[in-house]
Amino acid sequence: MKLIYHIFVSYTKNEKLKTLAENEMNCQKIKKLLNPYIDQALDAETAQQVEEHLKSCPACRQEYRRLKEIATSLNSFPQVSAPQNIT
Ligand SMILES: [Zn+2]
Repeated sequence: MKLIYHIFVSYTKNEKLKTLAENEMNCQKIKKLLNPYIDQALDAETAQQVEEHLKSCPACRQEYRRLKEIATSLNSFPQVSAPQNIT
């Protein structure tokens, strides 16, 4: 009985570890997709995956907000026209 319990516990722990590792791997993948996601350069399916991951992952959500902020500030930067007084 005790042994079965032990197996059950280690099984559960392994499952948890596996999930964490998979999630971490996913994070690296997602982080690479954040920039094209913000630029809306992803296909609908991939964008959906990013969205789903952002819902469940605070770390990537934070990274997304950071990148989004940079993108927004870049876009709101007044358009600097090419210098015209070059002689
Ligand atoms: Zn993540």
